[in-house]
Amino acid sequence: MFLPLISVLVLLVAGLGGLPPQDPGTGSASATTASDAKVASIVVGSGTVEKALMDRFEAEVRAGLEVLAPVFGGRPKQPFFVFLHEDRDGLPAAIAPHLHEDSPAFALLGQHQIHIVVGEVRRLGSNVRGVVVHELVHELLHQYAEPHGRLIPRWFHEGLAQHLAGDTYLGAREDDLVWRVGTRRLLPFGDLRESFPRDSDRLRVAYAQSYSYVSWLANEFGLEPLLRAARAADRRTSFEAALVGRLDRTSLELEEAWERHLLHGSGAPWRVLLDSCFSLSLLAVLPLLVMALMRRLQAEERAARRLAQLEQQAQAAAAAAAAAAQLDSADADAVPDSDGGPAPPPAI
Ligand SMILES: [Zn+2]
Repeated sequence: MFLPLISVLVLLVAGLGGLPPQDPGTGSASATTASDAKVASIVVGSGTVEKALMDRFEAEVRAGLEVLAPVFGGRPKQPFFVFLHEDRDGLPAAIAPHLHEDSPAFALLGQHQIHIVVGEVRRLGSNVRGVVVHELVHELLHQYAEPHGRLIPRWFHEGLAQHLAGDTYLGAREDDLVWRVGTRRLLPFGDLRESFPRDSDRLRVAYAQSYSYVSWLANEFGLEPLLRAARAADRRTSFEAALVGRLDRTSLELEEAWERHLLHGSGAPWRVLLDSCFSLSLLAVLPLLVMALMRRLQAEERAARRLAQLEQQAQAAAAAAAAAAQLDSADADAVPDSDGGPAPPPAI
């Protein structure tokens, strides 16, 4: 994620109370590129962050810079800071609202700051390397496009960050776009230039679209013309216009080709279909399950009726036997034994 310039200006006014001083020399750790010049300083932003974790993030930042610096034309000109925060609750009030509920990190463009919340990385099960690379891309792309870094559309920022990190944010999936292509419900990229939607569903779609479109552009044309377009963007030439000039296709042609790829070349429809198969197969067998259940209930009802009949028959047989025994006993009282036997007790 990254914050637009307006947010940065607000932060400049509000200040970053509670954050460490921004002098690079005060960082708790530092990461360097292959050259020895310090580029990124890893510092604790709030709370307590274990030394081992600091070392882990420092190593990831260093590794990320080594991979990304050549992509963006060499080592960054501006040093920047990577603030590590223990948890969301401890974030300084000035920046806390900028952390999305399902995101572990954000970058402040123009401030040369990356903020990573270690507790959220754990809670969300985020890939540490993916998070670091994602936020590094925001910082490096902004510097690469200077002095017009803020003119780069949000969709390109997030798309490139996810593409190079090899990981999406907010669980965004290309599969979620398949139905939207068919029903013409994709979000217009023009609406994703300055900011992303606030509601969770559309936000997730915005990330998925950005990732899918930029990945397709990079795979189809290579990263180089995309980055040249970013560097060419200025107040008179939008990023999109610069892109059209370098790819020799209109924006409409590019988007239509991407949508065709989504439907026919990405494999997403098959994944959606396979995901749905389980549900569909459940629906298909549901009538059979209901019939089996009804047969079972009917069998149990028949068994219960049969049992009741048997009980009635047994009771009737017992009653008949008792009556017969009573009759035999009466006959015996009427005819005493021939040997006289003991006399019956007296009746009183
Ligand atoms: Zn991002």
